[in-house]
This record gives sequence, C-alpha cells and structure tokens, in this order.
Amino acid sequence: MSLNPSASVLDDLYSIYDRFSSGLTTACVPGCAHCCTINVALTTLEGFKIVRGLNEAGRFDLIAKARRNQSRNRFIPSATTNQIAMLCINGEDVPESENNPDWGNCPFLESNLCAIYPDRPFACRSMSSRKNCSEKGYAEMDDFTVTVNDIFYQCVEHADQKGGYGNLSDVVVMLTDSGTVDDYSRGEYHQKNIIPNHSAGVWMIPPEHRTRIQPLLESLRPLMMRINQI
Ligand code: SF4
Repeated sequence: MSLNPSASVLDDLYSIYDRFSSGLTTACVPGCAHCCTINVALTTLEGFKIVRGLNEAGRFDLIAKARRNQSRNRFIPSATTNQIAMLCINGEDVPESENNPDWGNCPFLESNLCAIYPDRPFACRSMSSRKNCSEKGYAEMDDFTVTVNDIFYQCVEHADQKGGYGNLSDVVVMLTDSGTVDDYSRGEYHQKNIIPNHSAGVWMIPPEHRTRIQPLLESLRPLMMRINQI
C-alpha cells in the first residue's frame, strides 16, 4: 500500500478544516503556546507526514528530542476517537489515561513557535480558544466547534484505519526507526503505546447540532468515499 493517496486525503481534510477554523474568532496568536505540551496525540498517518517533513528539512535534532521524551511522563491514549464514539453509543465506560500539562513541552516547540507548523497534526489545528488560556488556565471553545472537531478527529482516524494512534513522540520515533514505515505501509506494525485505529462507525453529533452541521458533512462525503476506495 502506498501512503501517498491517504496522505493526500489527509491534506484535503486539513484544508476543509482550515477553511472552517478561519471563520472562528480566537485569542490564539503566534508565540502563544500554552497548548503545546508533551501530551499531543495523533494518528500514524499524521506522523508519517511530520516525519517526511523532518527528514526533508534535515531536522534530525527534533526527532532526537522526541526520542528523549519517551523516557518522560506523557499522555498515552488508551482509546481512539472512533473507539470512544462506539463505546458511548453502546453505553460502555470510556477508558481514561493520565494527562498533565505540567509534564513538559512538545518536542517541536522552538522559541514558543511550532517548528513543524505546516505539518502539525489535527490535534494542534483544532485547538483554539476564545480567551487567552493564561487567564483561565484552560482553552474556551464553543460547543459547535467541539462537535466539528470531533467529526474531523473521526475522519482523520478513518483515513488511517490500518494505522495507529499514540503520543506524538512515540509515533514519530516509531516512523523514524528503520523498517517501521515499510511495516506501517503494509498495515503491519507492532509498537508499545500505539493503539490500533478504527473506522468511523457513528458520528458524534449532539441533536442540537445535527441541522447546522449538515453542509460540513456534505463537504466531507466525497473525501470519505475516496478513503473507502484506498
Ligand atoms: S506540533 Fe507544533 S502546534 Fe502542535 S503542540 Fe507541537 S509545537 Fe505546538
């Protein structure tokens, strides 16, 4: 399996999301990096795009930083977004993972700016706040934006159904090590702390957003069809 068709779907998903987010009013500005912690999680396809960019730019120092983070406390997900959606529909408990912003910075944060900004994962693209996070200590997002983010998280995972989901440092290191990209391309990989992705079985849309979100779902439909043909 070539990863290029999936990577191109991911680019298109990012473009559609960026169009949506450009209409949001936020307090986010370059140099504000409260959300750039060691705890960012992503899919392996997103990681593939990041590692490809790091290799092309010769930023092996950043890969080394990610490797060092593997000995530090960091968020290690125990369920993916599509898995959580199914658990919620079935009324089952969602497993929790420890997550503490004080554990440290993202390995790609340099002088409070993102060193991989064009390739940053969806978790970073979707993080915004109406108020400066330093005032309240957390991001403030309207409910509809949270719903849109959930849909895109589900689509990003759906685009990488044979891949996995894990902490940014773990995924980057896995895709850097010799042979693992080939394994991942074949849909085979075995890596501690990286859990398997799932297809999107049911959308996480609360009743009050079902009408408003229809145009966005329509714009995503062709992409979902492309994903299913890969
Ligand atoms: S990848 Fe970039 S935007 Fe995302 S947390 Fe790291 S530094 Fe911040």
